[in-house]
Amino acid sequence: MSGPRSNHAAEDRHGDRHGDRHEDRHGDRHEDVDRVLVSSASIAARVVELARQIGNDYAHADGQLTVVPVMTGSLLFAADFVRALPQRRLRLQLTTVSSYGGKNTASRGSSLAGALPKHLEGHHVLILDDILDSGGTLRLLRAEFESRGAASVRACVLLRKKIPSALSTPCEYVGFDIDDEFVVGYGLDFDDLYRNLPFVGTLKPEARA
Ligand code: 5GP
Ligand code: MG
Repeated sequence: MSGPRSNHAAEDRHGDRHGDRHEDRHGDRHEDVDRVLVSSASIAARVVELARQIGNDYAHADGQLTVVPVMTGSLLFAADFVRALPQRRLRLQLTTVSSYGGKNTASRGSSLAGALPKHLEGHHVLILDDILDSGGTLRLLRAEFESRGAASVRACVLLRKKIPSALSTPCEYVGFDIDDEFVVGYGLDFDDLYRNLPFVGTLKPEARA
């Protein structure tokens, strides 16, 4: 399989237009946030939809599925996703890839950091990441897991930036396509802050100083 089967523009299907100011009816707001790009309600609905679709695609793999969330950005996504997935016998193995660091919002390449998942031989590996940007993270992990004998390797990202590097990186499942802006929330950080926000949005310039 290649390419996402379906994905959604970052538009709130509950009625808030893309780019609306953060005075929305879900209470998705924070004083440092400039605009909400994907509301908490949209995320919740899309995660369930992805879990249902992916669950169908892996119907044959109960007991042989290893979900690999890329820390720390996909922490919230992974927690919601695995609970919505119909497969109840799966392995969850974390991995860490460092790309952005601290207050740096420009990609500086990807490298593996920390422990790597074990015993992937014969397992169907599903990589979960927060956002697809340069594609470095997914390329690195896919090559690593394929070289270690996984039966299959697919990737699912919650967000993908509408830029050539991201759109040309193979990724089987995409939650939302968003404009090329630096975003925080639902796992994504700026200087390790804002990961806990239940929505995805951009920061005010003064919050990024
Ligand atoms: P890639 O390896 O595709 O360049 O980027 C993937 C990683 O870069 C993501 O997992 C995330 O950690 C980081 N990243 C890329 N774009 C953004 C962004 O807009 N906001 C934040 N907070 N992190 C990002
Ligand atoms: Mg990341």
